[in-house]
Amino acid sequence: MPTMKVPLLDLKPQYQSIREEIFPVINEVMEKQQFILGPNVAEIEEKIAQYCGSKHAIGVNSGSDALLLSLMAINIKPGDIVITTPYTFFATVGSICRLGAAPLFVDINPDTFNIDPEKLSGILNSLPGKIKSKIKAIIPVHLFGQCADMEPILCLAMKNNLKVIEDAAQSLGASCTLNGQAKKAGSMGDFACLSFFPSKNLGCFGDGGMITTDIDEAALKLRSLRMHGETEKYYHRYIGINGRLDAIQAAVALVKLPHLDSWAEKRLENANYYKKLFNNSGLEENIILPYTKKGSCHVFNQFIIRAQRRDALKNYLEQNNVGCAIYYPLSLHQQECFSYLGYSEGDFPESEKAANETLALPIFPELTKKQIEYVVEKISDFYRME
Ligand SMILES: *Cc1c(COP(=O)(O)O)cnc(C)c1O
Repeated sequence: MPTMKVPLLDLKPQYQSIREEIFPVINEVMEKQQFILGPNVAEIEEKIAQYCGSKHAIGVNSGSDALLLSLMAINIKPGDIVITTPYTFFATVGSICRLGAAPLFVDINPDTFNIDPEKLSGILNSLPGKIKSKIKAIIPVHLFGQCADMEPILCLAMKNNLKVIEDAAQSLGASCTLNGQAKKAGSMGDFACLSFFPSKNLGCFGDGGMITTDIDEAALKLRSLRMHGETEKYYHRYIGINGRLDAIQAAVALVKLPHLDSWAEKRLENANYYKKLFNNSGLEENIILPYTKKGSCHVFNQFIIRAQRRDALKNYLEQNNVGCAIYYPLSLHQQECFSYLGYSEGDFPESEKAANETLALPIFPELTKKQIEYVVEKISDFYRME
């Protein structure tokens, strides 16, 4: 096969396909000169709420602030504990710590990379009451585009009186089976956090995010918290933040949302094509393909393999113009900034193993079959050279 360039993510072809739709809506914002909140934000909030199947959606300025604001809405404060996994993007845990609370880490299931409900149950059952009473919430992360195992998680949360905040930053559009029914990411917890960072499945032209919730009072409080805690202009009930979504990002999201499902479909087709090619390439000793749980709809924000000699493979692919990346190279319990929590190497073996073995391959919707074939060929070449 001739050499080729396969970027990990190329947003330009998607932009080309919608640029005729984008120009007029951005132009309209510029003509009106109303940039913060406004009708576009109200409209995308309504549409995202509808799309996810939640009662309210509140536009905020990033997925990170969606997490922070959700925790603020339930009054997380110093001394509180919030459960999540150490194998996630930094913001999941950063938001907890910024409020002075502490994360309680639970290791992941090695197949899905999401929090392991059995380990969660084990920990909740073994903790002394004094610590347990400090645990206020759990943040299940729907990592890489697949929902966490929500049925047992919601059950355990209910039993232990914990609020549930879904981190759905990578999984808008994904769904899973809950009590025999398909439920979308963003419709299962007390709150769910979405991100419109450009590399997410619904990416804007900058930072953006949203929180979904069914709770009326919480929605009101979140609307206030994102505006410095105002209830009326210059009267502050809460100590909030500047966390608003802006009109240009909302306009972009409005154009993109109707395409989201077809783009997810293309990601899934790409994933299936990879699987087909890998299954015929005799590499089962060398790599492990992503696993989709039964009853789960995976939207493949990332296509994650586990690879033998991962770092050498990554170098080889990069030398051959194949973009790839490691999400994430260091589990959060081992990060320098969290050393004060007192965790150490070996505490979360599955997260640590994932950090050492996983590699993200290109999966964006506009990827061509030829490009996928090239990626698989290069990976085969790498393992044949041994
Ligand atoms: C991207 C991401 C976030 C943060 O979203 P931003 O919009 O970049 O602030 C949070 N959690 C996870 C799992 C993410 O992937």
